[in-house]
Amino acid sequence: MYEYNQKTHAERILKEGFQGKFLKSGMRVLAKYYRDVEDKERKDRRIALYDFCEKNIEGYNRVKYYQAINAALNHASNKKNKLVEIEKIVVTKEELNYIDKLKIDYKYRKIIFTLLVLDKLSMESYNIKTGKEPNSEHIFGNPLRKYNELVKSSQVTSTMMKKDGYSNINDVVRYFSSLGLVEVLNQGMIKLVFINEISESGNESLKIVDYENIGLYYDLHKGVKNVKECEECEVPIRVKSNSTKYCDKCKKEIERIKTAKRVRRYRNVTE
Ligand SMILES: [Zn+2]
Repeated sequence: MYEYNQKTHAERILKEGFQGKFLKSGMRVLAKYYRDVEDKERKDRRIALYDFCEKNIEGYNRVKYYQAINAALNHASNKKNKLVEIEKIVVTKEELNYIDKLKIDYKYRKIIFTLLVLDKLSMESYNIKTGKEPNSEHIFGNPLRKYNELVKSSQVTSTMMKKDGYSNINDVVRYFSSLGLVEVLNQGMIKLVFINEISESGNESLKIVDYENIGLYYDLHKGVKNVKECEECEVPIRVKSNSTKYCDKCKKEIERIKTAKRVRRYRNVTE
């Protein structure tokens, strides 16, 4: 869900190259990064982006990629297209309390928790993009791919749902609807009515920074076995063995530094 961490995403691309097959979105984010972080004018953004693509796309040629690159540059020329960076989402004591007390199975509380955090993210993102306060209607499911994000980030697998007789997330949503937690609207959208039942407060309880594993924060809060904090950046991780210490990102970074040191030592010896 890099869409909420575009600045971080751009920094990662600059360091490691484009991620997977997401070239177009990567170019857009880079163009905005050049604009907002590096303060580059349009013509310099153009030079920088062409240069980066040339160096980082395998089999690059100008004819093949100019359309995508120009689209990214145009995207960044529109000031309305913001470089969205949401550093954290706060969950309050009252919100946790409410979810803890729901009389539903643990995994469904985890899904409700994830829905709450995703809603906060989309509210925050709306605010950054438009400069306006979002209204108090908590709507989820637009676009539809949000359901995939929900399942992935909740860390509740469809196998787990099937064990309870729910064939997929839509069934679970209907279950939530029968309990009055959500209201099913048309075109796959739902209204998160449970959020309006929670009293507002400023009592921070959890800070969420890893939006791809939101469910793990609930596990950590409940002291679930095999879930602990990364020793470097404190995001919750699933422990696979006793030696698990870091999240994937930190592990990669630590490996990178080690390799760089090794290379430097080697060079010192041979030169
Ligand atoms: Zn980490």
